[in-house]
Amino acid sequence: IYILAIESSCDDTAAAVLENNKVLSNIVARQSIHEEYGGVVPELASRAHQQNIVPVIDVALKKANIDKSQLSGIAFTQGPGLMGSLLVGSSFAKSMALALNIPLVAVHHMHAHVLAHFIEEEGFDKPEFPFLAMTISGGHTQIIKVKSFFDMEVIGETTDDAVGEAFDKSAKILGLPYPGGPLIDKFAAEGNPKAFQFTKPKVDGLNFSFSGLKTQILYFIQKNVAQNPNFIQENKNDICASIQYTIIQILMDKLKLAVAETGINQIAIGGGVSANSGIRATLKEGEQKYGWKTFIPKFEYTTDNAAMIGIVGYHKYLENQFEDASVVSKARIEF
Ligand code: ATP
Ligand code: FE
Repeated sequence: IYILAIESSCDDTAAAVLENNKVLSNIVARQSIHEEYGGVVPELASRAHQQNIVPVIDVALKKANIDKSQLSGIAFTQGPGLMGSLLVGSSFAKSMALALNIPLVAVHHMHAHVLAHFIEEEGFDKPEFPFLAMTISGGHTQIIKVKSFFDMEVIGETTDDAVGEAFDKSAKILGLPYPGGPLIDKFAAEGNPKAFQFTKPKVDGLNFSFSGLKTQILYFIQKNVAQNPNFIQENKNDICASIQYTIIQILMDKLKLAVAETGINQIAIGGGVSANSGIRATLKEGEQKYGWKTFIPKFEYTTDNAAMIGIVGYHKYLENQFEDASVVSKARIEF
């Protein structure tokens, strides 16, 4: 089975071709236009998708060495995401499926971040059901009990900002360009995580909160910069390491609780923030420390990509879960 997958939920235009559960090509066109605005500008994003989508799909097919006549089905991101961005991908997927007379498969973006672990990759094990998935991304922070490919239950989530926003907004306070998560990661590697202390929010159960941390960091920076205008430059690595350390502790506390409550000790992380080297290392430590079995996706399947849409597309294809051209994009969809 050959699936062409298209992902355009936010600011990256991505296409991939899968042969069953193997990735033949995985192409992403990143949009740098948003950097100077300090965040994604929806209107600019959809315009860039329109420019990128044809060449990106073209390259994905060429790199996979597949002609479009060989495709079995087309998978696309139905949502959640920016409406203008989603529409570019869905319109293209619909027309192409119609023209080729092959099935159309709609994919939930967060479902894809979870099932990215089922892409066949040398050196990467697949989790067994049931397992816990922690999706940490630009728009989501959830702990999910995954019972099968299609049966998942959200058992905890953020009540305000997502963890990716916590990274990006902290970075913005430090004057770093968008998206700042990867930069915090980079500077944190050279810093002392215990240099500055931030308090963790008190949230009941398996839910998260990150907006208080952001405010705390803002006041901390304002206070110190008032005393020393060079405070950020002089302490950049330590500040980043301390912020990252606090975020990791927040995530780990909830994971430990989730394991205790469910009795499940297989943990898979997904979403853009799972690219973070501190989170990866700390989770790995959990294998020895707590007897967990952890699953950390290959780097290219963490931030938005179409391969993850393709693996969900493949499993839905096997179950004949198809859509007709009347399927609508959704900026928000329950999981
Ligand atoms: P969602 O998946 O919730 O719809 P999204 O698709 O916009 O949101 P992703 O592409 O999955 O988000 O993740 C992007 C986020 O990941 C950004 O907030 C970015 O800063 C963060 N991120 C990427 N790499 C790192 C890293 N190394 N350390 C910390 N954060 C990172
Ligand atoms: Fe995402």
